[in-house]
Amino acid sequence: MTICTQCVLPETFPGITFDEHGVCNFCRAFKGHDALEVSKDRFRRKFDELLAQHRKAGGHDCLMAFSGGKDSTYTLAVLRRQYDLSVLALTVDNGFVSPTALENIRAVVENLGVDHVFYKPRFDLMKKLFRRATESTMYSRKTLERASTICTSCMGIVKFITLRMAIETEIPFITYGWSPGQAPVEASIFKNNPSMIRSMQKVLLEPMRNAVGSEIDNYFLTEDHFAKPERFPYSVSPLAFLNYDERAIFETIGQIGWKKPDDTDPNSTNCLLNAFANKIHKEQFQFHPYSFELAKLVREGYLDRQEAISRLAEEEAQAIVAQVRARLEL
Ligand SMILES: [Zn+2]
Repeated sequence: MTICTQCVLPETFPGITFDEHGVCNFCRAFKGHDALEVSKDRFRRKFDELLAQHRKAGGHDCLMAFSGGKDSTYTLAVLRRQYDLSVLALTVDNGFVSPTALENIRAVVENLGVDHVFYKPRFDLMKKLFRRATESTMYSRKTLERASTICTSCMGIVKFITLRMAIETEIPFITYGWSPGQAPVEASIFKNNPSMIRSMQKVLLEPMRNAVGSEIDNYFLTEDHFAKPERFPYSVSPLAFLNYDERAIFETIGQIGWKKPDDTDPNSTNCLLNAFANKIHKEQFQFHPYSFELAKLVREGYLDRQEAISRLAEEEAQAIVAQVRARLEL
């Protein structure tokens, strides 16, 4: 398998081309570190300005989509300690949260002084959805360049449950722990608006309804939500414009009670389903669903290239894959 000589994108990645030095078109389009730092600085200031305008006296300032993984845990710590925000953290339990991640979630929210809720969607529906996502690709190919069908399904539900809750409780910001590989800095702060959300919802909800029926609608927005555009929050991914250093992240979160799970794959620190989802994606598309994210982290200098190569090459642990298959009755 040929991969880019600068990042780690493989020849099987959609739309990839290589120049005579084996450098991919994504690396050639990268404007360089100086331009990146200028953008990050601009977004840091933008976040400060928005906080000054919308910080709430007495209520929650932000609703954090908190998986309990290393990046969302670190983001939560930054929001509390660096920005001193009042945070409501929301964890959606897809039925595959690592037991260690559950312990981490409890420890971290206690140590940081954060209100927290678990939202556990019906497992019979989740199971149906994940089974369908195993059998078919469900969404457009473009959607699946950066995440597996299973991850896209789960994340879609997480995003819309979070958005629904923010609208209902009038919380002005939703925060995510996306790494700089997952959230480009230029898209790290935006105001949600009804027409954009309506089209995003359509892309996800229609295939999900076809797969599991209209009970899935409970996790998405209704006309009542769309009728309140003034309540639509900003979405913010702080790690895209702050410093991102895995070693510093592990050190910081270790001090607030976070322990690394030993039962997840190298690309997740909370979800047991991820290894299985990656394996299916590689069989369907011949590239790893984390290729794009890790390539971007390498390109932008956040991750060592050899480390990325070895994470992408690691075979999924058979015991975890078998455990997921059993729980999904596959
Ligand atoms: Zn490249």
